Amino acid sequence: LEKELRKLEKLKTVSEIAASISHEVRNPLTVTKGFIQLLRDSDITEDTKQYYITFALEELNRAERTISDYLTFAKPTIEDVTILNINKEIQYILKVVSPFASMNNVKIEVKKTGEVHVAGEGEKFHQCLINVIKNGIESMPEGGKITISIRREEQIGVIQVEDTGSGMNDEQIERLGTPFYTTKDKGTGLGTMVVYSIIKAMNGEIKVKSEVNKGTSFTIYLPIVEVPS
Ligand code: ADP
Ligand code: MG
Repeated sequence: LEKELRKLEKLKTVSEIAASISHEVRNPLTVTKGFIQLLRDSDITEDTKQYYITFALEELNRAERTISDYLTFAKPTIEDVTILNINKEIQYILKVVSPFASMNNVKIEVKKTGEVHVAGEGEKFHQCLINVIKNGIESMPEGGKITISIRREEQIGVIQVEDTGSGMNDEQIERLGTPFYTTKDKGTGLGTMVVYSIIKAMNGEIKVKSEVNKGTSFTIYLPIVEVPS
């Protein structure tokens, strides 16, 4: 896990990232403002008007994506730490991602062996896994399969998310988690950064395995909390 650990150390501080995010949101807002001011001009043709509106909406969508990828991360450190039952949390996460999965012809299978409890903040944990699963779905433009396995390895809870998508080469894996690194037209390059920060805050580790045109697996390791049955 050495490589993954080093990546966690490389993370910028929350305030540095917050500064670049506000920049990232302010830009599209400024552009949108400009287009709306242009729309006031009564001389413009209907075509030009539609063109301005389309661009203004596209810019607003961009700001919205940035905020939603970053949302939970923007809150200060872990606050409402509770004991999370991973199997139960996964059921909730599935409800959230299912519509997006079926829209993209992706089947999600969950394999669980026994109960796993960890300490963390529910909302942050949800956002973390949603970002991982969303990336998996987005790596399979022709559809495919996501397998989520939950298991216990002694004192460690293991959550693995595998996809059958495009995969990544070594250079791409190395850049994962770097703010604003994206290969997508409509990407924010924030999702994985948020994933790494949340897992770090939960005292966990992440391991990424990937093969181009075969698929990717994200394996999350979290310290187990013993819950008397
Ligand atoms: P975004 O999804 O907005 O591009 P992320 O930080 O979530 O930003 O991901 C960064 C990049 O990492 C993606 O653009 C993609 O190239 C790559 N990536 C992440 N997860 C996967 C995956 N499961 N399969 C293939 N590539 C991935
Ligand atoms: Mg993403």
